[in-house]
Amino acid sequence: MRTDTGQIFRIEDYRPSDYLIPETRLTFRLDPEATVVIAELVIERRPGVAPSTPLVLEGDGLVLRRVEIDGKPAGKQSFEVEPNRLTLLRPPAAKRFRIVIETLVDPSANTTLMGLYRSSGIYCTQCEAEGFRRITYFLDRPDVLSVYTVRIEADAASEPLLLSNGNPGETGPLPGGRHFAVWHDPHPKPSYLFALVAGDLGVVDDSFVTASGRKVALGVYVEHGKEDRALYAMDSLIRSMRWDEEAFGCEYDLDVFNIVAVSDFNMGAMENKGLNIFNDKYVLADAETATDGDYANIEAIVAHEYFHNWTGNRITCRDWFQLCLKEGLTVYRDHEFSADQRSRPVKRISEVRTLRAHQFPEDQGPLAHPVRPRRYREINNFYTATVYEKGAEVVRMIRTILGPAIFRQGMDLYFERHDGQAVTIEDFLAAFQDISGRDLTQFALWYHQAGTPNLSVSTTYDATAQTFTLEIEQSVPPTPSESRKRLMHIPLAFGLVGADGVDMRWTTVDGATVEDGVIHVRKRRHAVRFSGMATRPVVSLNRGFSAPVTLSVERPRDDLVFLARHDGDGFSRWQAFNTLATDALIGAFRSSLGGKPSGFPSEIATLAVAFAADGALEPAYRALALTLPGEADIAREIGANIDPDIIHGTRAELARTIAEANAATFGELYEALSTDEGFTPDAAGAGRRALRNTLLDYLSLLPGGAALAARHFSRATNMTDMAAALGVLTQRHPGNDRTQSALAAFERRFSDNPLVMDKWFQIQASVPGPGTVEAVEALTRHPAYSTLNPNRVRSLVGTFSSANQTAFHRPDGAGYRFFAATVLDVDGRNPQLAARLATALRSWRSLEAVRRDHARTALLSISSTEGLSTDLRDIVERTLA
Ligand SMILES: [Zn+2]
Repeated sequence: MRTDTGQIFRIEDYRPSDYLIPETRLTFRLDPEATVVIAELVIERRPGVAPSTPLVLEGDGLVLRRVEIDGKPAGKQSFEVEPNRLTLLRPPAAKRFRIVIETLVDPSANTTLMGLYRSSGIYCTQCEAEGFRRITYFLDRPDVLSVYTVRIEADAASEPLLLSNGNPGETGPLPGGRHFAVWHDPHPKPSYLFALVAGDLGVVDDSFVTASGRKVALGVYVEHGKEDRALYAMDSLIRSMRWDEEAFGCEYDLDVFNIVAVSDFNMGAMENKGLNIFNDKYVLADAETATDGDYANIEAIVAHEYFHNWTGNRITCRDWFQLCLKEGLTVYRDHEFSADQRSRPVKRISEVRTLRAHQFPEDQGPLAHPVRPRRYREINNFYTATVYEKGAEVVRMIRTILGPAIFRQGMDLYFERHDGQAVTIEDFLAAFQDISGRDLTQFALWYHQAGTPNLSVSTTYDATAQTFTLEIEQSVPPTPSESRKRLMHIPLAFGLVGADGVDMRWTTVDGATVEDGVIHVRKRRHAVRFSGMATRPVVSLNRGFSAPVTLSVERPRDDLVFLARHDGDGFSRWQAFNTLATDALIGAFRSSLGGKPSGFPSEIATLAVAFAADGALEPAYRALALTLPGEADIAREIGANIDPDIIHGTRAELARTIAEANAATFGELYEALSTDEGFTPDAAGAGRRALRNTLLDYLSLLPGGAALAARHFSRATNMTDMAAALGVLTQRHPGNDRTQSALAAFERRFSDNPLVMDKWFQIQASVPGPGTVEAVEALTRHPAYSTLNPNRVRSLVGTFSSANQTAFHRPDGAGYRFFAATVLDVDGRNPQLAARLATALRSWRSLEAVRRDHARTALLSISSTEGLSTDLRDIVERTLA
């Protein structure tokens, strides 16, 4: 583990490396405890750098065996070695020279899952962001691009499969039952994209012919016996390769493309050139063991990692401050892919829900940072919703501002200009500025300034003049280390809906700020006046969620009811109903706090049934409309003095009100959807299941509800229905005997499948109520649980702390104490995982006073512990600051 030096890295301190490494030859002599790594590096001094300049290579916990310079052993006086650094004090005077470095690493002891490690007997690597320095001393920074040749030597019986980046070369036997394979990657790449896999795995093979006729051999490698569960990943890969050619003109550039699934992995997956390594959760699926959500994630993540081949690998980041250059852009691309494969409005609503659930709290709390951060202490902590999800929204806004055709031309120019380079956000924006002639200076603040902008809007209608006026005011709340904010350029898509539900035609008096259905908000205050309005329109704002802002509009509630029925924009129609439900829940929360619980406006239940029964809408859309705002969403909207128990009670009460008002219709719809059409993982099948399972959740609140859910569980023919029924039972009827026997049946059936057992842990970690603290604690001693496996830890402790509002925030602080002890325990083995878990307390200041004190005590108990990793210390100290 890296020791915390307290060092802060700042973007303004960037300077190019004195030395480059145009060629890297690596030899791995694999051994479980003592792997020898020989790195032969061609080093080149950059022009203008003095010949006497020392060469400083980064390392992390390495054992050095020897150093050679230009073919001769390096004398003791010529270098200095530490576990974290190797310095050649007086490198050769020649512009180019060669060095050989031999290091020793222990893959079995590596529980951080960074660098070279073993997972279920498979050797694998994870090098992003700074894991390569755990393999050998190197210039481990993304702007040092090198051509790699890799030779792997291993035991032929236990590691028949030897993979690395690029194209396969020579293979052959070695003495002692060993063998070797050579791989060569002709595309220069940064060290974070290096990968190696060795082991004994099964494979699903296929091939793809690119637009220009290159035949690519495709492989998805999984544990023997699981090949059938890798077919959907392969299918997703082939669709991704075709889509990227059609949508962005991006063609694959090697003879092979391999995906390997491993069970111990810190992230979702990693885009190593030609050899993607995946968390097996995002590869393995069949109807019996994977939900529709799992299928959608596999499709999206396979696409995401594949798309990195151009946005990330061919064009990479100059430094880690530019992480959003590859991530935000690639998330945008995978969103577009999924929207094309599935339903665009449904996909958009899901994206926005994710953004609000994960990015908005980040932006509104102590961990807020710009999409392009300016400083970091531990880069691992910046793989955040802000960099990924808000980063994707920023790219989407560029497309909204420029229009699809110019956006595509800008992307083409970016690829053409920077292929093979390590670049910055400024380079990315310049391509769009140059192609469009537009000034994106103010827009660039989206990358540089943290915080979610707010737009307050009021409207006036003048019947005599037939004008309709929008007054828009923007503000950006202060965030840590940024108290004063500059004004943003916010593209706000809109429509003016007439009484017949059809968008009215309009002309603006102030035309400069409105084009193609988008208001360009750039100033603090804006008035946009529309003329020729014979009747008062209802304004639909931020259509398609064109900008990641919060919006407060002064208007009669009837306008929202109208939009929930008639808005022609699918996203905004969903949003109108969601806003009505959120407002009703906040109103009920406030009156409960005041001791006078109130009911809910009757139109909520009326609209719910209208959505449910509207056959013109896709089932998946209807399911989303019927899903009430989550407890964390409601808490975020309330903002301060949060009592999670009251929120939970209020939300359950609204669900019951809707169910009781619509019992007959919901029951009929549920039955009508119950005809088994056989499982297909496509969007249409998934949508029908989503609607039916949402209806089940409502029906379970009525008399006989537990029996209905238990029947749904026992008759389920796929994991989607089974997990949904178990979720309904545990959420709505936690103490019921039927719930306990369903949990036991599920465990019996799937005890040998770790990924399905993750769902079992997750479902139990989500059970509302105070007793879940002890239940989760007891589950950490379950034989299927392992603190070494990130998926297990996330499914139990991660779910408990980030998705169970009532149990985690138990008023006596027991949830926080369990949580703090677990985070500290995990930190000793896997700092990245510990730091990720610790972010669950980022919104602690918005809790009511008693819980707030307990949360603070728990955070202090972590921060006062000796020997914390840099990762965890950074998160906890920023959370407390
Ligand atoms: Zn990525």
